[in-house]
Amino acid sequence: MKLILASNNKNKLRELRELMSDTGIEILSQSEAGCNFEVEENGTTFAENAYLKAEAVYKATGLASLADDSGLAVDALDGAPGIYSARFAPGGHSATDYERNVYLLSVMENVEHRDAKFVCSICCIMPGGDIIRTEEYCYGDIIREQRGSGGFGYNTVFRPKGYDITMAEMSDEERYSISHRGKALREFKKKLREYNDTKQ
Ligand code: IMP
Repeated sequence: MKLILASNNKNKLRELRELMSDTGIEILSQSEAGCNFEVEENGTTFAENAYLKAEAVYKATGLASLADDSGLAVDALDGAPGIYSARFAPGGHSATDYERNVYLLSVMENVEHRDAKFVCSICCIMPGGDIIRTEEYCYGDIIREQRGSGGFGYNTVFRPKGYDITMAEMSDEERYSISHRGKALREFKKKLREYNDTKQ
């Protein structure tokens, strides 16, 4: 079986390949599957955006197509940056992760209650059109400076609940064991196994 990841993000591709390495499923990136287009993420939720990305690749290939949409939701900012996580901060998409974090810290300068969560919503459209969805969270808080260099995005300012270190100060293995994406992908793998069992 082939599964197309509706993304060309190398981090996401590596994680999905590692997770699926014992399943015999071949994972291709969007460009490896010949889909050289960008999907406009104009949904209003993580789940809608994941569906839009998966749908575009499924329509183009007819193969199992998986997309994830993820981001950071800060309580004190009413869930922002949320689905706009990749474009939060002046400069939009062209700002760097560092600049986005500087901006987030400046917006939160006078905020005392700093709880936040990472969200990962996964949508996989199977050949024939059945849909498998998962959504998982990683809870924590936003510290007052950037620390560490592991991973990407808002990892440098996000301290998972129960830890004294940020996501960016963890090893890849440790981060993956507690992260929203790690949890959502493991849940997806379980649901896919159950789905395939019902098809036999
Ligand atoms: P997308 O799912 O590729 O659209 O990613 C949205 C944005 O959310 C990324 O550009 C990051 O800024 C942020 N984000 C998503 N997942 C993570 C994570 O695991 N760590 C840090 N930031 C993340």
